[in-house]
Amino acid sequence: MSDGFHGLCPICGLLARSCRGARSGTLDRLHKQLNASMALFVQKYGGTSVGSPERIQHVARRVARFVAQGHQVVVVVSAMSGETNRLISLAKSVSSQPDPRELDVMLSTGEQVSIALVAMAIMELGIKARSYTGRQAQILTDSVHTRARIVEIDRVNLRADLDAGYVVVVAGFQGVDDSGNITTLGRGGSDTTGVALAAALNADECQIYTDVDGVYTTDPRVVPEARRLKTITFEEMLEMASLGSKVLQIRSVEFAGNYRVKLRVLSSFQDEGEGTLITFEEGPDMEKAVISGIAFNRDEAKITLLGVPDRPGIAYQILGPIGDANIDVDMIVQNVSHDGLTDFSFTVHRSDFHQAMEILKSADAHIKSRGVMGDDKIAKVSVVGVGMRSHAGIASTAFRTLAEEGINIQMISTSEIKISIVIDEKYVELAVRGLHKAFDLEQGA
Ligand code: ASP
Ligand code: MG
Repeated sequence: MSDGFHGLCPICGLLARSCRGARSGTLDRLHKQLNASMALFVQKYGGTSVGSPERIQHVARRVARFVAQGHQVVVVVSAMSGETNRLISLAKSVSSQPDPRELDVMLSTGEQVSIALVAMAIMELGIKARSYTGRQAQILTDSVHTRARIVEIDRVNLRADLDAGYVVVVAGFQGVDDSGNITTLGRGGSDTTGVALAAALNADECQIYTDVDGVYTTDPRVVPEARRLKTITFEEMLEMASLGSKVLQIRSVEFAGNYRVKLRVLSSFQDEGEGTLITFEEGPDMEKAVISGIAFNRDEAKITLLGVPDRPGIAYQILGPIGDANIDVDMIVQNVSHDGLTDFSFTVHRSDFHQAMEILKSADAHIKSRGVMGDDKIAKVSVVGVGMRSHAGIASTAFRTLAEEGINIQMISTSEIKISIVIDEKYVELAVRGLHKAFDLEQGA
């Protein structure tokens, strides 16, 4: 691109440097048409999508098709499948608790390999491409190693490259803090890199290419009749992601919500298909289902304190030390008291279970309950749908379904758009299948 592209395009009046007609030197009214069809896409490819040289070439060919249609493309990639796990176990082979800063230095190499390979494969097709590490792309994060949050992205470099006709290939999952340390964004963090870049560059769409062709009503491995959703609202997606649907990193969904990024989940293995679009409101073309999906999560554990004195400050005495240990608490249930005593239950991530039990046993020296009980064989099943706001009877349908299957409900929690139920882990598949059927989710909308 020459330096002459300052100011406005004399033909269509757009900023000259983002006018496609001006950039390609077209001198007629075609400018408007060219600009109307040009879009900026951020395409994120996960580990399996770049898992082999063949898969990488496949990605390059898809990118090339978008470029051929006149679009600008930013590619965000994960490490090749298995690589991040391999690096973590390598670290654990020399250190029982790898230093988080050093772990990030190492983990970031996985994505660095992918970006270079993808850029090379794209260039091989005669298209200009350039790779960027998180630091080169100036993805600034806080300093919380291994789960850093993106604070800011300086889009100047990337913009200039895009405007000069390059495909920009950015390493997912990594950034740099303000002292120049390499950081990573937590497992699955490349999704968040993709969405954050889409927000920073004001992209038309952020496409997440993965090994499934969209977001399903539930996990098809459990319910073969599960159906791909054409659309899901952002709020529902947030619930599905936090309740156990592993398609998107939850932070990426939060990010998309905050910056209103148009987000779509698609298969990188199929060339057809529109995937699932995550929308912001229930528009007229939304599927009319009351319930969008059934999420489930086997990663939980339940802790109960029996016969706790029912007096002010008790919840704090129980949960304070848990919070101090940085353990997230999910559901909390306290019963009506009898004779001044009550039972208090809550759930934590299963990997925090043992630590939480230890903490509570020592806290119980002051609380003086009648006993601390733990169960790490529970699962949480959730019915999710914005339609719940305007439809009665969803909870009773869910409870009736579980009753008919003979499944005992241990805990219940609800929000405006979800009902979560804790049950014995061994019934999770039965419950999910029953609920999926009870809410007619297998039928096309
Ligand atoms: N490679 C990282 C992981 O395996 C980040 C990602 O794939 O999104 O978690
Ligand atoms: Mg992922």
